[in-house]
Amino acid sequence: MSRKLRVAVVGAGPAGVYAADILTKNEDVDATVDLIDRDPTPFGLIRYGVAPDHPRIKEIVKALKRVMANPDIRFFGNVAFGDDIKLEDLRQFYDAVVFATGARRDRELDIPGIDLDGSYGAADFVYWYDGHPDVARDWDFQPHAKEVAVLGVGNVGLDVSRILAKTAEELLVTEIPENVYEGLKKNATTDVHVFARRGPAQVKFTPMELRELSHSPNIDVIVHPEGFEFDEGSMEALKAAKSQKLVVDVLTKYLATEPSGAPHRIHIHFCQSPVEVLGEDGKVVGLRTEITELDGTGNVRGTGEFKDWPIQAVYRAIGYYSDVLAGLPFDAAAGVVPNDGGHAIDLDGSPIPGVYVTGWIKRGPVGLIGHTKSDAAQTIGMLVDDIDALEAPEHAEPEAFDRYLDSRGLEYTTWEGWEKLDAHELGLGEAHETERERVKVVPREDMVRIARA
Ligand SMILES: Cc1cc2nc3c(=O)[nH]c(=O)nc-3n(C[C@H](O)[C@H](O)[C@H](O)COP(=O)(O)OP(=O)(O)OC[C@H]3O[C@@H](n4cnc5c(N)ncnc54)[C@H](O)[C@@H]3O)c2cc1C
Repeated sequence: MSRKLRVAVVGAGPAGVYAADILTKNEDVDATVDLIDRDPTPFGLIRYGVAPDHPRIKEIVKALKRVMANPDIRFFGNVAFGDDIKLEDLRQFYDAVVFATGARRDRELDIPGIDLDGSYGAADFVYWYDGHPDVARDWDFQPHAKEVAVLGVGNVGLDVSRILAKTAEELLVTEIPENVYEGLKKNATTDVHVFARRGPAQVKFTPMELRELSHSPNIDVIVHPEGFEFDEGSMEALKAAKSQKLVVDVLTKYLATEPSGAPHRIHIHFCQSPVEVLGEDGKVVGLRTEITELDGTGNVRGTGEFKDWPIQAVYRAIGYYSDVLAGLPFDAAAGVVPNDGGHAIDLDGSPIPGVYVTGWIKRGPVGLIGHTKSDAAQTIGMLVDDIDALEAPEHAEPEAFDRYLDSRGLEYTTWEGWEKLDAHELGLGEAHETERERVKVVPREDMVRIARA
């Protein structure tokens, strides 16, 4: 090819940034990549998913910033695929399009009462405490909501439980925006009850995150003995995965530890399957669970015995779910764009020319940031193999895309714009009386104004 290959990556989360990095470093290809994101900022769930009290994980951004310093990679933020731009628009400017749009919603939980006041999705709460511009600034903490249920035993459930159980003062050292700090002061939670449908060998926590629960002086972790059982399937699971064994070791230690009298508690309950959120006057007043028992394979069956828990709020953390992308097929059961490991494929199984997927939109909302790298390598490998078959765009010069966005009146942000906003947020942190590393800016119009100044 006498010109550089032009590739659009839609979604500047870790999967998108790794895809851009791997493609531009490929020695057999001379490519430039434009990363397009609906957020005015890059880094996806690293900024708007990873909990604010996990600064070490957020440090991954440092490596991604080095990737973005490559002049062959550009960033266009505040541009939403589907609303601002469509696939046929992108085809005018790029040889190929890689979708790395991740997931941002809660998977639905179809039980009676789930829509009552005081019942929330974890993704909404996470977006709120991480300062995403598209959610309301206030969280609906009710003064009477002291006992709270968290449904789901993955790391997102742990994040939500920890943020609910920590005090606003403990979180003030983090990058939470001012409105979140003020909101958290109204959080009346004293007891968080985490419910697992199955037993200890089936939880999806990771050992480090589980251990970390006890690091706060304000929290006692209480593992309840009912349902703390292992069947043959559980023993096999523990033998098969060392990390699962470590998780069970931590749970066993919590089980044997006497509470210290800390003001807040996180309770973990096993073999309790939520069947109904109980309400009164439209508000959550309880949770009904069916007690389950392990069936020998590591799965559970209902016992027909029910238990009502007096709780005043429910957070469901049963998984994230991706948005449908305009003009592309969607596998609603898996919540992904159908693909064969990299190419997007149509409902009849045929590859969609020049369209690829990577990250959570490709393989569903599971796995850590690190996993998105190997995933991107696989997708980019497929794209590179297809180069000769890609259809050339009408406007292959990079400036054509900028001109197009300008002609549409879209107020996009750039990498230089992000650097300005980044410096601004770091400055707010430094100026803060408690010397915080960063204070996030939340309103979209403020982010865009600072980035485009
Ligand atoms: C609450 C939570 C906490 C987590 N904590 C950790 C942790 O501590 N450690 C860890 O390793 N992993 C953690 N993870 C997992 C990690 O966030 C994911 O593995 C990773 O972010 C997936 O990367 P991705 O690029 O596929 O998706 P995302 O990070 O979701 O990035 C997708 C990007 O696409 C953009 N986008 C979406 N739709 C459009 C559109 N229509 N047009 C343009 N752009 C669009 C989004 O704005 C976003 O920037 C956590 C996940 C969650 C949900």
